[in-house]
Amino acid sequence: NRRVLLASRPEGAPSLENFSFEDLLATDPAEGEVLLKTLYLSLDPYMRGRMSAAKSYAKPVEVGDVMEGGTVAQVLQSRHPGFSRGDIVLSYSGWQSFSISDGSGLRKLDPSLAPVTTALGVLGMPGFTAYSGLLTIGQPKPGETVVVAAASGPVGSLVGQIARIKGARAVGIAGGPDKCAFVHDEFGFDAVVDHRSADFAAEIASACPNGVDIYFENVGGKVWDGVFPLLNDFARIPVCGLIAQYNHAGDSFPGPDRLPGLMRSILSKSLLLRGFIQREFVAQYPDFLRDVSAWIASGEVRYREDIVDGLDNAPAAFIGLLEGRNFGKLIVRIAET
Ligand code: NDP
Repeated sequence: NRRVLLASRPEGAPSLENFSFEDLLATDPAEGEVLLKTLYLSLDPYMRGRMSAAKSYAKPVEVGDVMEGGTVAQVLQSRHPGFSRGDIVLSYSGWQSFSISDGSGLRKLDPSLAPVTTALGVLGMPGFTAYSGLLTIGQPKPGETVVVAAASGPVGSLVGQIARIKGARAVGIAGGPDKCAFVHDEFGFDAVVDHRSADFAAEIASACPNGVDIYFENVGGKVWDGVFPLLNDFARIPVCGLIAQYNHAGDSFPGPDRLPGLMRSILSKSLLLRGFIQREFVAQYPDFLRDVSAWIASGEVRYREDIVDGLDNAPAAFIGLLEGRNFGKLIVRIAET
């Protein structure tokens, strides 16, 4: 069993030295357990938080422990009444090639309904994040303008496509011409702006001639600075992620204190800023699976996956995710069925 461990806590951006590899013999399952072979590992931005000791909504991974993560796995041996050899399951078995489970938290997947990798992306946690955050907090109405960054990724791409299904205008923000073209041409956003452009603030303003009614916040930083002045009265801001600052320790940044201006706008424009962690909305999961599966089947929702081969490449792929080097939902293929 090959495993990727957290070797040390990163300061700033993670590097390959923060990860180490370990090979152990895979053990047999005890009564009531299953032995799982990992097929696919999901790499997600939240893992940067788990590498840090700073207090957050979930416990950090301890130094020397296996990196956490969602996986799609196959049951190799079962001594559990609910699972048979060959079953494909959604699991949370982390960055390793085999694992033992007592069955809790496993969900059987039906490969005939959808490619199993979608359980880590558009039909999994990131897709659910987009669905629940946009519909519950954002509440898009026909004719409104919805802005979202990281628009080629699994969360942002679905936010924009659902916004359009609800009759709103979707404006995406992405890094570089290839991602921008894809977001416009394949995901069908009405307009796309490159956040790396020197004129980002002017370009996002001209892409939103009627202002912004919903800003689905995925990144923070300069993107926030560009969108913030465009917010309309009663704008809703689901605060989903702040990836631009995940590599920055602490809460203070150099520069003048801008909190008074932010608070004044929240008050005078009656803004709604609402942070959320997707699991808060878990009761909506059946609705999510029903709606998004139907939208995929009808062609109203498309998705893109970026599949990297081999567990040994997981650390470099994860470091790239924080720098925007992934193009679509980042998944590592660990083994074939
Ligand atoms: P993506 O697959 O979209 O990958 C992250 C993307 O963020 C990169 O590809 C890059 O895209 C963009 N990015 C990175 N750094 C910056 C930066 N400094 N400025 C602007 N963009 C940047 O990720 P996900 O779709 O999985 O996640 C999107 C966001 O949603 C993240 O912030 C994540 O933490 C959050 N999230 C929150 C959840 C919750 O429950 N609240 C659950 C799941 C995700 P580009 O090249 O286009 O800039």
